[in-house]
Amino acid sequence: MTAAFLPPRPVEGPDDLDIVAIGEAMVEFNQQPGNISVSSAYVQGFGGDTSNMVIAASRQGARTAYVSRIGDDAFGGLLQDLWRREGVDASAVAVVPGAQTGAYFVTHGPGGHAFSYARRHSAATGLTAADIPDSLLARTRMLHASGISLAISSSAANATLSAMERAADVGVMVCFDPNVRPSLWPMPMARALVGAAARLCDLFLPGVDDLRLLAGVSTPEEGLAWCRAQGVKTTVLKDGPRRVWIDHDGHVTSVPAFAVQVVDASGAGDCFDGALEARLAVGDTLTDAVSYAAAAAALSATGLGAVAPVPAEEAVRAFLAERGAA
Ligand code: ADP
Repeated sequence: MTAAFLPPRPVEGPDDLDIVAIGEAMVEFNQQPGNISVSSAYVQGFGGDTSNMVIAASRQGARTAYVSRIGDDAFGGLLQDLWRREGVDASAVAVVPGAQTGAYFVTHGPGGHAFSYARRHSAATGLTAADIPDSLLARTRMLHASGISLAISSSAANATLSAMERAADVGVMVCFDPNVRPSLWPMPMARALVGAAARLCDLFLPGVDDLRLLAGVSTPEEGLAWCRAQGVKTTVLKDGPRRVWIDHDGHVTSVPAFAVQVVDASGAGDCFDGALEARLAVGDTLTDAVSYAAAAAALSATGLGAVAPVPAEEAVRAFLAERGAA
């Protein structure tokens, strides 16, 4: 695994984007730690796995664009400001009059944290294949999608699978993170659609928990065997604070995670995906890109929220040097 996973970015060419991501973004309200009374204060942040991912990629220097639908409400405006600040091209995000942008609340109690969603019938559930035109796919080297878009509505599922099929047809590298959420859909449906998406992608990015839910497997080895049985070509399997497993070209290797003082690891997988794809875009080997992504994701778990603690490239480089892994 010494060659670049993706051929290096050409100096000139029609592709002016490295990564286009498609999915649903949301506004987050996170209960302040230590204050669980009725009058708790909530800190406003941002979420939505694919939006988190594309911001993480942008912070590593990748040229990114996002495709989604938002409402013409204040939350949609906050997201547009966020993407502008983060250098993510959001010109393909449709603003739907009268529709609502999704939101969620994170509450903290004695049993850990809990997510409460206000996303049913959100603007993003109306995503269609026309929202991601062939002309946009022609400009990018990678497409990133997630299982959440397959779960929120049949229209969004169709848009996502159509984009993946069309991207693969024109040689765009397709990356897919199943991000299985049992509250969004029944498991037989999740298994069928995630299986279809896994077969379509060049790089499958599950976590061990996703494979436990989808396939009932309990070890990374069993999980990788399930992925191979689905017809997946390359899998990078995330196993939290333990290791990251790589199954590529019939070889299985693994890279250790970095030990850090964790504050909130809930968006670590999204940061991992964004950092990994940003590094692949500049010609890293799969192993080097995974090590870099593990460092970025570990750093992102040292702060509260899914977006605010995502490190930029200089911070990741400094951390790798400090750990003797540069
Ligand atoms: P997901 O968020 O998709 O379920 P993980 O929880 O496995 O995925 O986290 C994604 C990546 O983030 C891991 O592969 C690892 O590199 C990093 N990570 C997650 N939790 C920790 C942690 N507690 N300490 C260090 N790194 C972590």
